[in-house]
Amino acid sequence: MAFDSEKTIILNKNENAGISDLVGRPIISGVDVDQLAIRNICPFRAIAVNPVRIDLGKCTFCKECSEAFPGKISFTPDSSLASNVRDRLVVIERDYEPILPDGDLVRDAVRNFKSPVIKLRLVADETTQGMVSRNQFKEHQVELIDDASEAHGLLLASAGFDLELLRSLYASLQHPRMIIIAGAAAITEYDSLTNSGVWPERWKADLFVAGESIHPRTLAKGIIELTKSIQ
Ligand code: SF4
Repeated sequence: MAFDSEKTIILNKNENAGISDLVGRPIISGVDVDQLAIRNICPFRAIAVNPVRIDLGKCTFCKECSEAFPGKISFTPDSSLASNVRDRLVVIERDYEPILPDGDLVRDAVRNFKSPVIKLRLVADETTQGMVSRNQFKEHQVELIDDASEAHGLLLASAGFDLELLRSLYASLQHPRMIIIAGAAAITEYDSLTNSGVWPERWKADLFVAGESIHPRTLAKGIIELTKSIQ
């Protein structure tokens, strides 16, 4: 079994697992609102205006905005919240399309990746580690392991990247050496390091996954879409 369409079937079997607790892709209607008020409602500066848009790379899915502006912003249970294009995580007014990877931008090593499961070395602070249920990830064919030499990639899920540690972990990885950036804190730090030229070009992210904390279903769906999109 490859980590591709066969896994989609398995994912579909688990489609309802945890769905009630999933606050997924937001939709933003075209209803007129006070632009300043809606921008300021977000404690994480994830909302920009004219037109209203939410950067899911900064959003923690706290729902303060949808509670304050229910006719303008609502959250769906859609777990398509991952893309290899950073800008695709920005949802704009009347954008009702799922968030998916761009198949044309997938690296060859990822394109050819075949495995029964994907093993990822989780790189996160203690708080985030404590929030992650490894069993839930396993249900979606994603194994979070501690030994980088057995992992297919790194899952960076909190801020405070230690570049020396990452360099050492990256060198140990098996192919395709995926770099997955998950959650608002990690994505914000990645943005900052890439904008300042500190982040090595060869570590360009293969996938950005929205959500704070990361939902296993969202991550698995993102990886499946990443590989399926190029078949
Ligand atoms: S749900 Fe996201 S966009 Fe809305 S207030 Fe919370 S962090 Fe901001």
